[in-house]
Amino acid sequence: MIFVMDGGAKDSGEPAKERASRARPERALISIVAPCYNEGEAIGPFMTVLEPILDKMTFDYELLFVDDGSTDATRVQLEKLVEENPRVKAIFFSRNFGKEAALTAGLDHAAGDAVIVIDTDLQDPPELILDFVEKWREGSDVVYGKREERAADTMAKRLTAEGFYRLFNRISAVKIPENTGDFRLMDRRVIEAIKALPERSRFMKGLFAWAGFSAVAVPYSRPERAAGTSKFNLWKLWNFALDGIISFSTAPLRIWSYIGAVVALFSFLYASLVIIRTLMTGVDVPGYASLIVLILFFGGVQMISIGVLGEYLARLFVEVKRRPIYVVDEVIGGDKAAS
Ligand code: UDP
Ligand code: MG
Repeated sequence: MIFVMDGGAKDSGEPAKERASRARPERALISIVAPCYNEGEAIGPFMTVLEPILDKMTFDYELLFVDDGSTDATRVQLEKLVEENPRVKAIFFSRNFGKEAALTAGLDHAAGDAVIVIDTDLQDPPELILDFVEKWREGSDVVYGKREERAADTMAKRLTAEGFYRLFNRISAVKIPENTGDFRLMDRRVIEAIKALPERSRFMKGLFAWAGFSAVAVPYSRPERAAGTSKFNLWKLWNFALDGIISFSTAPLRIWSYIGAVVALFSFLYASLVIIRTLMTGVDVPGYASLIVLILFFGGVQMISIGVLGEYLARLFVEVKRRPIYVVDEVIGGDKAAS
């Protein structure tokens, strides 16, 4: 391995810095990784836009589709693409494993000197690929698309996304750039660093940021979906956000010691007050309201803290089982056979 790993004991919290320019090979292979789940309607328009752009590129390319257990015409479409274009390769999962697993499979199978991750619904404008590759050629290891404007998203989605990024970056040692999706180019060295991460719970945006290296942003405005519908509903997004935070921060786990300490301090003060008052004015029986309020309040606090323990324990359980992140049904196309 060419890079140094310190077991993740100390995550670098600093943003990636500009580093000395790194020479790129004259002849390089660029891998495009495109996860798709029920994108039968979107793949056609996606290829129409993408192919001419890739042909304009000075480097050779391979186009890697990861079919995340689609139940629509996606498979048929991909089989057709593989026949038409020898640079297209398709990996079919045995069932739906989720976008993070699909991305992981794409990175595992990509052979390129640089890998570009892109959605198949044209929400990540393919024309940016040329800028990405140019920036990579100039020496950047990571080039990511930054959404300057999210008019295509609802107000609620924008606000919750903003809140999530703010909270994540406050409590996690690894910082993720705001308004950045998975759409990015990564150098081979970055890919190798990410491939070395063994965790099952894969919050890719966090893993990308964890790897570090020099990064530059290319701003763009995110268009509406070309066809089909979003695969992420509110519940899925909530779980995704929870996964991200819990995988990258232990703050929710540790905060209870502090909350407990503060509560204990207040109860001590309140107890002293009650004792002094009882000594001075005698026993007073009324107090049902304050008692029940306190009992309910602390019951709630305890439930929450046990719930947080459960969240970590559940993820620990998943990690300990060490199940594979995805199961491949079949790999077709490309020069190489199934790996
Ligand atoms: N996707 C996937 N597996 C899933 C859900 C989504 O591979 O379980 C793919 C999907 O086909 C698309 C990308 O991930 O290429 C982004 O999904 P989507 O457009 O639904 O998300 P949004 O843009 O609404 O956040
Ligand atoms: Mg989309």
